[in-house]
Amino acid sequence: MAEPSNLRIVPLVDQRARSIPVSSLTADPRTLSAEQASPTDRLGRPLRDLRISVTDRCNFRCSYCMPKEVFDKDYQYLPQTALLSFEEITRLTRQFVAQGVHKLRLTGGEPLLRKNIEVLVAQLAALRTPDGQPLDLTLTTNGSLLAKKAQALKDAGLQRVTVSLDGLDDAIFRSMNDVDFPVAEVLRGIDAAQAAGLGPIKVNMVVKRGTNEQQILPMARHFRGTGIVLRFIEYMDVGATNGWRMDEVMPSAEVIRLLQTEWPLVALEHSSAGETAQRWGYADPAGIHDPQAGEVGVISSVTQAFCGDCNRARLSTEGQLYLCLFAGQGYDLRTLLRNGTDDAGLATAIRQIWQQRSDQYSVLRSALPASTQASTRRVEMSYIGG
Ligand code: SAM
Repeated sequence: MAEPSNLRIVPLVDQRARSIPVSSLTADPRTLSAEQASPTDRLGRPLRDLRISVTDRCNFRCSYCMPKEVFDKDYQYLPQTALLSFEEITRLTRQFVAQGVHKLRLTGGEPLLRKNIEVLVAQLAALRTPDGQPLDLTLTTNGSLLAKKAQALKDAGLQRVTVSLDGLDDAIFRSMNDVDFPVAEVLRGIDAAQAAGLGPIKVNMVVKRGTNEQQILPMARHFRGTGIVLRFIEYMDVGATNGWRMDEVMPSAEVIRLLQTEWPLVALEHSSAGETAQRWGYADPAGIHDPQAGEVGVISSVTQAFCGDCNRARLSTEGQLYLCLFAGQGYDLRTLLRNGTDDAGLATAIRQIWQQRSDQYSVLRSALPASTQASTRRVEMSYIGG
């Protein structure tokens, strides 16, 4: 429940100014090999998934993400001119798609706070892969504005939504979002998304020990058999403001054991390469997955960090390209967009950046003592998106 979080907040290190100018990259001969249509990085990983943050603002103040003590009324959000416009995002995304990206996720901040977001959705929905396929286009939201926006998003071409929801108990939920937002309104948003056909819907619950682990079973009971996939996320040490502590992480293995006290579960295959969640199906009495009952997922970013097939890149609100959630610096693509670089130049830059990527921060970081992990510089989740 509400905790003395002011005791744990560490000062914000503003990562936004720290970016790598793209011109500082050294040429990689592979950049110029036109026959390799889709680049791979130094560990052989292709570029498939692009997460696009469309705003650094949010109307929630979850203590694990945007604690009130830091993100207060004096906090300096990015000025409007710093944000990529919809046209800039679409132009850049087109070049990412030409390099192999086929999955796009809009995030933030709270993406539904960005004015006319459905206009951007429509522009992105019109993009096609080099072999003419539509993209997998999805959006992650806290659900607060979803009841109002679901149909317009669907009409614009959005395929799916993921809704973040950390509990069903109204008091716990209000305390976690820290702006007294009622859970009923998020549930109404999920219903609206389902009615609009924005499925299969995923619901992500961050589990913070001592705060909301008693919500695990009620959440599972609520979403079991609805076609909605509930996923439990380990509370991560992203950013520098949430005062993360290992003893507040509930390992996914423990979540699964708790669920198994009520239902038999069977492990399911990954749905695609680079998939972050381990999938578990509700089983029938014979121990076979019952598709009617559905499935749950766990995302073990802390206890089982795995970078081996990570195919994700992240574009920040102001056009910095991050190659990892735990990266301390991004590559400045906005300057290229605004200095007259043509599309071929943008494509070359993306290719070159990806081909030089060797990041495996999650795996390397998990090998460090917790004290060292907490002091390394890293970007805020609210700036880069989840
Ligand atoms: N506002 C949108 C939302 O709520 O989904 C998108 C942005 S939010 C940063 C994306 C996801 O990151 C949310 O599911 C949020 O719960 C998760 N998140 C933020 N901080 C986290 C942390 N420290 N550990 C694990 N997940 C976190």
